[in-house]
Amino acid sequence: MKHAKNNIEESTCKIADEICLPDSTLPCVVIIGGGFAGLALVEKLKNKELQVILFDKNNFHQFQPLLYQVATSALQPDSIVFPFRKQINGYKNVLFRLAEVEEIQSSSNTIITNKGKVHYDYLILATGTTTNFFGMDNVESHSLGMKDIRDSLNIRHLMLQNLEQAAITCDEKERDALTNFVIVGGGPAGVEMAGALAEFRKYILPKDYPEYPSSIMNIYLIEAIDELLSTMSDKASSMTLKYLKDLDVQVLVNESVSDYDGTQVTTKSGKTILAKNLIWTAGVKGQFPKGIDEKHVVRGNRIKTDANLKVEGYENIFAIGDIAAIITEQTPKGHPQVAQAAIQQGKYLGDTLLKLMKDEPIKPFEYKDKGSLATVGKRKAVADLGKFKFAGYFAWLLWSIVHLMSISGFRNRLMVGFNWTVSYFSYEKSNRVIIRNFKPKASVKNTKK
Ligand SMILES: Cc1cc2nc3c(=O)[nH]c(=O)nc-3n(C[C@H](O)[C@H](O)[C@H](O)COP(=O)(O)OP(=O)(O)OC[C@H]3O[C@@H](n4cnc5c(N)ncnc54)[C@H](O)[C@@H]3O)c2cc1C
Repeated sequence: MKHAKNNIEESTCKIADEICLPDSTLPCVVIIGGGFAGLALVEKLKNKELQVILFDKNNFHQFQPLLYQVATSALQPDSIVFPFRKQINGYKNVLFRLAEVEEIQSSSNTIITNKGKVHYDYLILATGTTTNFFGMDNVESHSLGMKDIRDSLNIRHLMLQNLEQAAITCDEKERDALTNFVIVGGGPAGVEMAGALAEFRKYILPKDYPEYPSSIMNIYLIEAIDELLSTMSDKASSMTLKYLKDLDVQVLVNESVSDYDGTQVTTKSGKTILAKNLIWTAGVKGQFPKGIDEKHVVRGNRIKTDANLKVEGYENIFAIGDIAAIITEQTPKGHPQVAQAAIQQGKYLGDTLLKLMKDEPIKPFEYKDKGSLATVGKRKAVADLGKFKFAGYFAWLLWSIVHLMSISGFRNRLMVGFNWTVSYFSYEKSNRVIIRNFKPKASVKNTKK
């Protein structure tokens, strides 16, 4: 029997039990994770003389930089995700399998997934990161992270539900708690989220909830060190602070959250803030299946690799993207965990694997920093492009173009572009529908008790 799309002879599975794969004599490259890094690698290896199997626990790629726009009702969720099967249409040597990889057994070149086992010749870990609550269980169970599309939808639902509940209650303290937002983490995700919420408060709240007093919905942004966007220039940090202040966001620097019970946020310096909405963007940690020797795991739960992205201690296992850390004197903490680094590593490893298979010489990975952009709201953004550092309308325009062009899929680009154009003129965020009843983790636990 033939696989219609891939034109590869299908037979009984060799080592793969339960996961049916076509038999092939070509070298088998297994990629775990179809994020920016994994997909860049797939693009390099497509239609080459090897068999590529992409595993992901979701059947779609997601564009994380715009998660905050889904969370704040500006975009539909399906405009920033893209099905893997559509992505690999026409790639003769690439297969996708929807499964979560649970374990790596390097002694037998096998991975164990929740659907069965698969053999590999080369294994690539491109599994990215997950939210890091730094061991604060209370904070984790009452707050919301923003790492994937489900998180964004949870935030959107919690926000809209709480705004509706605030209209029902006559208790002023309860109403304040329901409408106040605390965002933790002054990196790009936190800053962009705070700006988007402030615009929601400015343009949507007075129209949708005319019954609320204008003082309602306080937005706090908490950052542990003394500046926002610490990886960008001083100009970017100070302009971002100005933009947020103009939008009436209360920025607390040199402050960190120590506890949260679902209603009251407590900070290390002893401040308390009443808020039933806490969004945590303060940290990430690497996530990967078990089986990698702990001695190769470094700060941030990242996997230490050599300059060719090969995991130390293994001959045929590589890591790329947020999970990989090339530790050198120049990069003592590894490369930045951003999309550009992930994409460049994916492309580099594609070329490197092809060379390795032909016994050709390979060069070490070199990261080319193309600059950083962050936006705080309409016409408000900051840009660091080498020695050019600017803020305002042109930075915002550049941010919009770069993000629009980076989204997977023509239809998605069209949808996002259309939504942005409408909202540019109307200030509209039209996805304000509650389609399911969302409950934070802690309240689900309490109901089960
Ligand atoms: C809210 C937010 C905003 C951001 N904004 C920006 C920005 O503006 N600019 C920028 O450059 N970067 C930004 N980033 C960072 C950027 O998104 C990451 O650096 C990038 O996604 C890393 O790519 P990756 O391929 O390493 O991992 P990811 O994109 O996280 O992909 C990992 C993939 O692995 C899959 N996976 C994980 N574990 C398993 C498993 N065990 N089995 C099967 N599949 C698995 C996941 O489902 C996922 O598809 C942002 C990140 C977030 C969260």
